[in-house]
Amino acid sequence: MTYITRFAPSPTGYLHLGHAFSALTAFEAARRHGGAFILRLEDIDHTRCRLEYEQAIYDDLRWLELDWPEPVLRQSEHMADYQSALERLKSMGLVYPCYKTRKELMLEALSAPQDTPPLPPADAPLDREPAWRLSLAEACDYLGSRWGGLGFEEQGRGPHDEHGWQVADPQVNGDVVLARKDVGIAYHLAVVVDDARQGITHIHRGHDLFEATHTQVLLQALLGLPTPQYHHHALLLDETGQRLAKRKGSKSLADLRKEGANLESIKRLLSVNPV
Ligand code: GLU
Repeated sequence: MTYITRFAPSPTGYLHLGHAFSALTAFEAARRHGGAFILRLEDIDHTRCRLEYEQAIYDDLRWLELDWPEPVLRQSEHMADYQSALERLKSMGLVYPCYKTRKELMLEALSAPQDTPPLPPADAPLDREPAWRLSLAEACDYLGSRWGGLGFEEQGRGPHDEHGWQVADPQVNGDVVLARKDVGIAYHLAVVVDDARQGITHIHRGHDLFEATHTQVLLQALLGLPTPQYHHHALLLDETGQRLAKRKGSKSLADLRKEGANLESIKRLLSVNPV
């Protein structure tokens, strides 16, 4: 069986132990199954990505004794491919422009009666570039009876004990943005294009992305792309029971390295279980 995994960090901060856990889990699964482990840099967000973080990703992963085929795919070099996926969805009538800011949308959602549909903006101001959102209503119409069959094979046990076939419920994320106005594209679209382009068969990532998978499975169906198997592993928590996060300044792998942390004890601490 072909077994291709990937680790797809965004160079928007330093990696922490949670990232090491995802990367080691994917790497170890590929090794056990005689498959391949791919590194991909998800660097479409030029407002937050930095070369120094990118370099640290390479240093951290080498320190963890991982290796991967070169060249590494950097999403910023493939914007045209994501644009063409977006154009395709546009031509299918499945996306719509949204001229509102996140703040405006939030205020609107808070004040709207429960049964009001999320958007569409008829009164687009001319001086703003739109974001492009996926229309769940149109997507549902487009897929017809296939909508009810959307789902994915979950190999792992997350904090909610998920295992086996998971029915996808894209409504959990609503009409997601597929193209940000500042960056031109957004995470969900780039990730499904690349998982398919790179032939990824098994995705190992943290449980924080479990809900994202519901949207990604829908995009795969709309674009005629295969759905990999997923394994959303439980998240590592810090000593206060909070999950590790770049933006909260959780201790980075780079700091651990500088402090002389021992690789074997880190690996023992993470004790990656076979998947
Ligand atoms: N680039 C994403 C992140 O760093 C992960 C994407 C994924 O694993 O699908 O959070």
